[in-house]
Amino acid sequence: MSLLEIRELRTWFDTRGGVARAVDGVSLSVARGETVALVGESGSGKSVTAYSVLRLIPRGRGRIAGGQVLFDGTDLLTLPDAAIRAIRGNRIAMIFQEPLSALNPVLSIGQQIAEAIRLHRPLSARAAWERAVALLEQVQIPSPQRRAHDFPHQLSGGMRQRAMIAIALACEPDLLIADEPTTALDVTTQAQILDLLRRLQAEHGMGLLLITHDLGVVAEVADRAAVMYAGRVVEEGPVEALFAAPAHPYTQGLLASLALDELPPGARLPEIPGTVPSLLAMPPGCAFAPRCAHARPACHAEAPLLSAGAGRGVACHFPLTRLAPPAAVAGGLVKAAA
Ligand code: ADP
Ligand code: MG
Repeated sequence: MSLLEIRELRTWFDTRGGVARAVDGVSLSVARGETVALVGESGSGKSVTAYSVLRLIPRGRGRIAGGQVLFDGTDLLTLPDAAIRAIRGNRIAMIFQEPLSALNPVLSIGQQIAEAIRLHRPLSARAAWERAVALLEQVQIPSPQRRAHDFPHQLSGGMRQRAMIAIALACEPDLLIADEPTTALDVTTQAQILDLLRRLQAEHGMGLLLITHDLGVVAEVADRAAVMYAGRVVEEGPVEALFAAPAHPYTQGLLASLALDELPPGARLPEIPGTVPSLLAMPPGCAFAPRCAHARPACHAEAPLLSAGAGRGVACHFPLTRLAPPAAVAGGLVKAAA
């Protein structure tokens, strides 16, 4: 059984212009000790997927309209509020792109880590502080004894992200969700934080759901990846296979953009003309069809489903790579991707 299994998740927002289906039928799984990347351009629904897992979608504005989020077999979407609070920051932790907005400006980082521990563990203030210092050491903050007294504004961006990671690790989570954890950092610091995440993930055997728009990051850290476009997963599979032979024209376009590397943040993808469709005006067929060089009439008529095969899946009527049907692989012993 997967540690995390998202099934047909739908998260919709009621807006003045109508219902925005930010996440519309996303399925995704993360096994223990596995790193799964969720990739896609800005606005594709990656963060909304992550927030939905922890039930952090602001009430009133958005709603989870369907699906299941099985964590160790329990559906998080149907748990009472108290039960989900007991899981958040404990068995599932999350780190964000901009640590400054996630950290409390008036508490030292040592205090914040200690609080995160004491929220879920019966430790004395003193023991929690000692553990906080040990965690700062684990995330390689120099002079952790002294630095524990620092306030967030006294730390550099990279150090703040390390402090966030320390808070996330406070209760030794089974699953860590990292939403663009290195996007706000310079390239050198990015590499250090990725290294750190990779090392900690291996040491703690956590499942890691790593959200990024950066395929370079995916190549470096992930075992598997799911590519999102306009609220849906359009392709998924082991990173090596995905990079070697992308089956969805969108994945191919993303990879071609990667080859042009070092695009400034927010730049258009030169290999994929056009922009992501508005969630309020989704085309009737495949959401990518209007931008797709390979689109045929069928693509504009009907939305393709994610077809599974040999641990890979693609939602395309005319995939660039034929995925072997699951039954044909190793005499049907290989599990079909859900
Ligand atoms: P990503 O993380 O992939 O960049 P998001 O998951 O943040 O994208 O957003 C997906 C879509 O959901 C976007 O079109 C965004 O405008 C919409 N969205 C997110 N939050 C809200 C909200 N509170 N109200 C309305 N729409 C929202
Ligand atoms: Mg996001």
